[in-house]
Amino acid sequence: MLPSSVKILFASQTEKAEVWLPLLREALPHDEFVAVPDKSVEIALVATPPTGTFQKLGRPRLVQSLWMGVEKLLADPTYPRGVPLARLVDPGMVAAMSETVIAQVLDWHRHLYQYRLQQRARQWHRKEQRMASDRTVGLLGLGELGSDAARKLLALGFNVAGWSRRPKDLPGVKSFTDLTAMLRITDALVCLLPLTRETAGVLNARTFALMRRDGCVINVARGGHLVARDLIGALDNGWLAHAYLDVFDPEPLPERDPLWNHPGITITPHSAALTEPRTALPKIVENVERVRRGETPANLVDFQAGY
Ligand code: NAP
Repeated sequence: MLPSSVKILFASQTEKAEVWLPLLREALPHDEFVAVPDKSVEIALVATPPTGTFQKLGRPRLVQSLWMGVEKLLADPTYPRGVPLARLVDPGMVAAMSETVIAQVLDWHRHLYQYRLQQRARQWHRKEQRMASDRTVGLLGLGELGSDAARKLLALGFNVAGWSRRPKDLPGVKSFTDLTAMLRITDALVCLLPLTRETAGVLNARTFALMRRDGCVINVARGGHLVARDLIGALDNGWLAHAYLDVFDPEPLPERDPLWNHPGITITPHSAALTEPRTALPKIVENVERVRRGETPANLVDFQAGY
């Protein structure tokens, strides 16, 4: 059992300390928060920590990510071996992601991306109307994000299928462990996978060719999931209608990258879902309390599986 006061490091180049620290100090008034790593830190709260952070730590009880995706931490050779890593499962972020996915599926389904182009050319052409029940949304990943998006897309009347490593029993969702079988019925493909050795490059020419024609691809997971030249090929040959890309490798997307100007691509700046400190805080507090009581923290990452 740890003493009642825990020393907690906040280390992030992307999450704002001036937002997080007052909230953390209010929620955990007996704990000590520091911004500089040292050997006596017991819990490290991190998202893109400054280089060298882990080398200055001893053996903390827990590294708590402030993000849902942890592939960069797992790939960091300085990460302290054997120290448990917890992912953040933030209800505000999950809700934001489902909103983004729904907005993009509807943008494609209701032809809004085409009407925006038409408006620029002062053209008045109505596209054929489809019902949501005519379309199948295929979700790559049925975890925290995929399962929430699935439920909300079903409520809008779409057919929903999902691909995961292990079969899932989600009401109304067609669960697949065979990717090819899911792609054959998919109109809109949404990537909500963690980036691992197995999932890197999953959005490739073969994947697009197996989808139904005139569909869309939405990548809101990680840039490494997409083979960009294959996407451009599938858009240029008219198989895919549109793509929505939120994540890139590298980020920011370089100014000269051809993805910027492609008429079939809508780009957002890795903004599909941001950590929402107000809803994330209770999850972090819960894990601090678990560590304090000597219990296993929630949402631990499986180092073997890579997520
Ligand atoms: P999660 O709860 O861990 O779910 C991951 C899902 O992917 C699970 O259903 C898992 O299958 C499936 N999966 C993993 N590897 C697979 C494989 N090889 N084959 C088939 N399915 C596989 O993750 P999450 O919280 O939903 O987050 C997913 C990712 O979204 C994060 O890792 C992060 O990179 C990204 N993200 C992006 C943003 C943004 O703003 N763009 C924001 C938040 C998160 P099982 O269920 O069988 O394990």
